[in-house]
Amino acid sequence: MPQFLLDPGGLAPDARSAVLTGAEAHHLLRVVRTRPGDRVKLFDGRGRRWQGRLAAGGAPDAARVEALEPLPSHEPSLELRLAQSLPKGDRWTWLLEKGTELGVSHFAPLRSRYTVVTPAAGKAQDRRARWTAIALAAAKQCERGVVPDVAEAQDLDAFLSGLGAPAAAEVRLVCLERSTAPPPALAGRPAHVTVAVGPEGGWSPEEVEALQRAAFLPLSLGPRLLRAETAGVAALVWVLARWGDLVAPGDP
Ligand code: SAM
Repeated sequence: MPQFLLDPGGLAPDARSAVLTGAEAHHLLRVVRTRPGDRVKLFDGRGRRWQGRLAAGGAPDAARVEALEPLPSHEPSLELRLAQSLPKGDRWTWLLEKGTELGVSHFAPLRSRYTVVTPAAGKAQDRRARWTAIALAAAKQCERGVVPDVAEAQDLDAFLSGLGAPAAAEVRLVCLERSTAPPPALAGRPAHVTVAVGPEGGWSPEEVEALQRAAFLPLSLGPRLLRAETAGVAALVWVLARWGDLVAPGDP
């Protein structure tokens, strides 16, 4: 059973009950066909999660969930951003789903020199809404507390200028195939990590320089040449295994 997303005003002031409306109520009542008394999990999209039971009665297009108890956060201890040169159609939507499952909070699709996808002009809002819907569906399915935001595709230069200087606990990594650089040696645990992955054609030398000027450290994912979307997932796993929550409780 997926979780359901509460509207900002959906939670009662005492946080003991909540009302779902619109598409979320429809999903709960008509698609999943939840019955009164069934267990329901809710989240607010900003990190908080609850569990309760569907109440009987009420409006046909609204679902009241009562006896709410808070659930533990499932958000990684670090804020994770995936900046990925936009891969073709299904590969990008696959990556949105897998990245959401792994804990990405921000997706930044990029246009770089060898990006082959040229998104149709004038459809930016529709495209972004569709990408956000995919991230929302994945967040519901995998029990995230947050719905990742998905930016509109932008040029690498614009993305780098928007980043500014790195904050104190921020790490930036650029995935480079055939890199002989040692793994990034960092003291302490970062609070924010951005991972940049190139297109199938790779980064141009100028782009690698620009990324390194913007404080991106080279990251090798081994000697094999990975497809861009595999590299995206592998890099996220690398970060989470090193600094995040991809370990069982009690692991050193
Ligand atoms: N066209 C490039 C070539 O032939 O050398 C390969 C590009 S690769 C298919 C796409 C992107 O995935 C790269 O730009 C890089 O960011 C990432 N990538 C693939 N394999 C990698 C590896 N072993 N280590 C680090 N990054 C990798």
